Amino acid sequence: MSQDLSIARIMQTGLLYCHPRTPLCEAATRMAERCCSSMLVMENDEVLGIWTEHDSLMVDFDDPTAVRVPIAQVMSRPVAALSPDTPIGEAAMRFATEQCRHLLVADDTGRPLGIVSQTDVVLNQGLEPYLRLREVRAAMHANPLVLDGRLSLSETARTMRDSTRDAVVVRCGELLGILTERDLVRFVARHPGTTPIGELASRPLLSIHVDDSLIHARDLLIGHHLRHLAVLDESEAVIGLLGFGDMLSGAEQFYLQDLREALEKRDQALAQSRHHLQLAERVIDASLEGIIITDARTRIEFVNPAFTHMTGYSLEEAVGRTPAMLSSGRHDATFYRHLWDALHARGYWRGEIWNRRKSGQLYLELLTITAIRDEAGEITHFAALFNDITYLRESEERVRRLAYYDALTDLPNRRLLEDRLSLAIRHAHRQSQRLAVIFIDLDHFKQVNDSLGHAAGDELLMQASRRLVDHLREDDSLARLGGDEFIALLPEIDTPEEATRVARRLIEAIRAPFRLGDREFRIGCSLGISLYPDDDTSVEGLLHHADAAMYRAKQEGRNTYRLFSTDMRAHNDRVLTLESALRETLESGAGLDVHYQPLFDYTSGRLCSAEALLRWHHPELGELSPAEFIPLAERSGLILPLGERLLRCVVGQLRSWRDARLDTVPVAVNLSARQFWQRDLAEWVRAELEDQDVPANLIGFELTESTLLDKQQQAIQILGALRELGCTLSIDDFGTGYSSLSYLQALPIDVLKIDRRFIQSLSEDGQGGQAILAAVTGLARELGLLVVAEGVETQAQLIALERFPVDRIQGYLTGRPVPADLFAANWLSGR
Ligand code: C2E
Ligand code: CA
Ligand code: CA
Repeated sequence: MSQDLSIARIMQTGLLYCHPRTPLCEAATRMAERCCSSMLVMENDEVLGIWTEHDSLMVDFDDPTAVRVPIAQVMSRPVAALSPDTPIGEAAMRFATEQCRHLLVADDTGRPLGIVSQTDVVLNQGLEPYLRLREVRAAMHANPLVLDGRLSLSETARTMRDSTRDAVVVRCGELLGILTERDLVRFVARHPGTTPIGELASRPLLSIHVDDSLIHARDLLIGHHLRHLAVLDESEAVIGLLGFGDMLSGAEQFYLQDLREALEKRDQALAQSRHHLQLAERVIDASLEGIIITDARTRIEFVNPAFTHMTGYSLEEAVGRTPAMLSSGRHDATFYRHLWDALHARGYWRGEIWNRRKSGQLYLELLTITAIRDEAGEITHFAALFNDITYLRESEERVRRLAYYDALTDLPNRRLLEDRLSLAIRHAHRQSQRLAVIFIDLDHFKQVNDSLGHAAGDELLMQASRRLVDHLREDDSLARLGGDEFIALLPEIDTPEEATRVARRLIEAIRAPFRLGDREFRIGCSLGISLYPDDDTSVEGLLHHADAAMYRAKQEGRNTYRLFSTDMRAHNDRVLTLESALRETLESGAGLDVHYQPLFDYTSGRLCSAEALLRWHHPELGELSPAEFIPLAERSGLILPLGERLLRCVVGQLRSWRDARLDTVPVAVNLSARQFWQRDLAEWVRAELEDQDVPANLIGFELTESTLLDKQQQAIQILGALRELGCTLSIDDFGTGYSSLSYLQALPIDVLKIDRRFIQSLSEDGQGGQAILAAVTGLARELGLLVVAEGVETQAQLIALERFPVDRIQGYLTGRPVPADLFAANWLSGR
């Protein structure tokens, strides 16, 4: 249906109007002359009413004065009006609701622009399918009124009115004629009511067969400018009359319902397309791709801002021209012919094309052109989308380098190293040779970064990598894995000693002082060596083993190297066994326990707090030390679920001690680096505490300096959040790492725990340990930190501590870590 057309397109504009005092016969005459079916009654530019053909039936033709009455007395009013942009579909609905056959089309000010009749609407409603399907039989008026030609006009009008017919068949001797409403209008003026209708009827009577289709009838009517047909049966007898109105009345139901559905759909579609349109507009505007829309003849109708950005041409400059304005002259006619062939055959073309910017500069674009077709399949538009890929092409080389080389040192990266290593392995295999992989890790590099800044750190890395390269053979290669980790690949070696010789050389090279600006700086490195085929035959295996050996070198004193050896393999196996055992244990929860060790006030000997320490008993592996499984859990990530379980357990314990009305003390929990840096640590702690309704000041956390060293600013934030909850924060094992009190000064912490080794040094003869202890405890006190002495084992140590400002004591002397119930029985008192 064409309901989206507005009625302005179908209304009749040749308006007839008259003054309200115009005699009816005069108005009717003018209507007949102009073949109009209606007359507007107007005064002072105002529409007062309307008189239509149909109203002519109301005229009393017997009364000669009836045709002389002013039209105002017989007109219909008020006149329903529509605005010219009303869709036809909506107008059709109005006819139904207003129960009329004509509607006035008026502008905003009420000025009449035209008239639409129901016939106009129906003719424009796309009724063809309906009319094609139905036969004349279904729409005709059966039993037409067949009147004798000698009957008077006034009698006939009355009969028509009474029987609500808009036409009658008139028998004039042998011939048949027809008389319609429209004829009556014509005669209102000129013929007295007594005229016999035989003289007035039009002849011959146009006819159609009863089983013809309605569409045929319609075409006949339109073709002859008529409004009625006689319907004949097989014997050519007149059995009915068919007028436009009849044809439409049946159709009305049909199209009204159809129309309602269509209108609803249209409204939905409109709302949706408006939404889509807005969306599409925004997408097009914001698109980083250049977009050109042309008409079918490739005249540019639209370009988006990205187009302007890339080509330099504004929308105004581009509209009306063709994309040839961008032509670079680099492509020949064949190129463009292929493009158009593809476009017409497949509907799109995609490829790279050189174009020219407004500035004259050439650029390469990746272009996609799509042909847009209408419902009939005709191309109406072309849409072109393109990206400037000039830069991409130029940077491809750079990208390739970035993918395989480290940006800072220009050394091969891990990817390229793995490629080279796998090549080298194949080569060594063919030649039955050995090769060595050396994992190199700079010691204390992070401290340089931290204290001297990243620029200095980068400079150090560059200098170090140059030294390493200088001390390798020509066929060896050096790669940077990231951070301060490097790999040297030594192909073609005969004995392991050859590899260790190189390792020693590298250590020496790094040991020499570095100059950073005007400062001299010393670092060391730890190396791990794996050998093909002795240790492994795969890329991953060799790298992994070299890493493990390096780790061992670090643990055993740094500035040294270790060969991956069979006992390290055994160690590795144990790590794997422990890891899978820990995984199982974490699932079942069996075998894990928490012990509590008391901390006492040095002076009063009063219980101050406790430290929670994990215990793991495995049915086959036996009692396992946290010193062994915590680092493993940390490396494998299992520390997170483990830590979760521990905290829940400790908080639950605190809760049950309180419920048992025991005087509980704060309990400190150890946090490893991964735990500390996990997301939303403070939020998680808060939720756990809230869950058991345990106050936050009953929970503390112990962290080592190394955990906090890397990212001081972020560390301060997390510590601050924990402290804000009310938790106590301790630095654990102080003195074993990169100890710097000035660094600690910036951190929001409460307690400093001096490592056991310092306490043990008290019972030794040397004075060094004591001097450090004096300095550290003194400064800690200055900073307002509580000082805890860890690992106090003997009475002698306890007494020796008297000389230092120590607040608390923790150790086997005063209390070993014990299970919760024993801890409560030994040290917690009831309230
Ligand atoms: P840590 O945090 O320094 O814990 C103190 C360790 O010293 C504990 O060892 C404790 O049993 C031991 N200790 C206490 N007093 C003495 C003493 O007088 N002499 C000696 N020689 N040792 C003493 P443990 O329980 O074997 O724990 C070892 C390490 O494992 C802990 O060191 C801690 O770093 C870690 N750890 C233990 N439990 C956890 C935990 O739940 N989470 C985390 N992340 N780490 C834990
Ligand atoms: Ca601790
Ligand atoms: Ca400790």
